[in-house]
Amino acid sequence: MPRRVAVIGAGVVGLACASRLQIRGYDVTLVDPRDPGTGCSSGNAGCLSRASCVPLGLPGTWKKAPRWLLDPRGPLVIPPRYMPRILPWLWRFQQNTSIDRVNAIADALHALLDVCIEKWRPLAAWAGVPELIRQEGYGFAYESEAGFDGDALGRELRRARGVKIDVLTGGAIREFDPALSPKLTHLVILPEQGHVPNPLRLSQALAERLRAGGATFARREARGFEFSGGRISRVATDQGPVDTDHVVIAAGAHSNALSSQLGANVPLETERGYHAMLASPSVQPRIPVCSGEGKYFATPMEGGLRIAGTVELGGLDAPPNHRRADVLVEGARRLLPALTHGSVERWMGHRPSLPDSKPVIGRSPRVPNAFFAFGHGHVGLTAAPSTGEIVAALIADETPYMDPTPFAAERFSAARSRAP
Ligand SMILES: Cc1cc2nc3c(=O)[nH]c(=O)nc-3n(C[C@H](O)[C@H](O)[C@H](O)COP(=O)(O)OP(=O)(O)OC[C@H]3O[C@@H](n4cnc5c(N)ncnc54)[C@H](O)[C@@H]3O)c2cc1C
Repeated sequence: MPRRVAVIGAGVVGLACASRLQIRGYDVTLVDPRDPGTGCSSGNAGCLSRASCVPLGLPGTWKKAPRWLLDPRGPLVIPPRYMPRILPWLWRFQQNTSIDRVNAIADALHALLDVCIEKWRPLAAWAGVPELIRQEGYGFAYESEAGFDGDALGRELRRARGVKIDVLTGGAIREFDPALSPKLTHLVILPEQGHVPNPLRLSQALAERLRAGGATFARREARGFEFSGGRISRVATDQGPVDTDHVVIAAGAHSNALSSQLGANVPLETERGYHAMLASPSVQPRIPVCSGEGKYFATPMEGGLRIAGTVELGGLDAPPNHRRADVLVEGARRLLPALTHGSVERWMGHRPSLPDSKPVIGRSPRVPNAFFAFGHGHVGLTAAPSTGEIVAALIADETPYMDPTPFAAERFSAARSRAP
């Protein structure tokens, strides 16, 4: 029985796939030039967003975009030089904002994400770090009635899928958490959400456990494939080939260079996001809190308070614009007016994003022993264990716990004819 699997990319998604495969008895090689978990997976907001079935594009999102783009402190930036490159992606994004499309996307995402805590717990325990999976809820904080009303559809989509939502107003907000600003008008609490207080440590723990179980970490960059009888027999890397029976592409925002060689040219882009990690914060929110208007999270982490968010559609190659991280710190002071802190560490990461807010998970349309696990956008930490479970089941020729059809790469082949 062919048991060797090469997983390309050792971010949280690749590590979760590799872990699920090793648990099933596969012989795993992770191919990545970087240390495990140090890409986008290291600096995220740490939220296990089981209720994040709401796609980024909703009916009317396009009406908000000009205001966001004109505000240098707003949640969305598109550098003018990148506008021509991103336009086809934005067109596809817009094609996915009708209420029918939104409901179909929300159903698919809900099936993938709702189980995240029950799927993370055994994996984190296997890796020896059960304490990293917390389920204390998180909140959306609004500074205005208009901001709260603007997210009504998101709440409706969640409630329709059984998500529990509590709304606090006025004095009840400060009673819940005295650190939060008295100027907040609403605090929407999703009590079943979770968080990981150190996402990098979670990835590192998975990597250590994999190593202990016999996995090989090949510090190499995958460049392409060698085929035999229509199947991949080797992964070509910058330092020679890796023999294998199956391949998983989990290279985050860089996956398209490889998946396009396997019959899937999906419109993968990067939404660059930033964080500011504040050492020794004088106050911390009781649970992670997201600014409803600013769309950034303040998450209590092991190393301090992490303020993470923003979307910059600026491609893979441009250097970071750390002014975006400074804007996040200014925003955090609006949520937590008494906040003072020590040193600030600024970070930028590449979210791997598809225009319908869904990842690509499944078998390659052309190469039967190649599998895709990338494009998780804003929810890669959340969706990693379910993705790993689905991919491992497909490789084992078993039926996964959920139907992965909505995540197939082929959905873009049909859509392509509609795009300009
Ligand atoms: C600011 C911010 C906040 C976020 N907050 C959250 C959150 O709260 N909750 C949540 O669920 N998600 C969140 N996310 C999203 C989440 O971080 C990502 O979806 C997730 O990290 C993607 O994981 P990945 O393994 O696909 O990619 P990565 O972590 O980027 O890993 C990909 C790996 O592939 C490797 N690679 C690339 N090319 C090659 C190649 N050719 N050969 C070999 N290896 C290669 C890279 O070196 C890298 O190690 C956030 C993201 C950002 C930026």
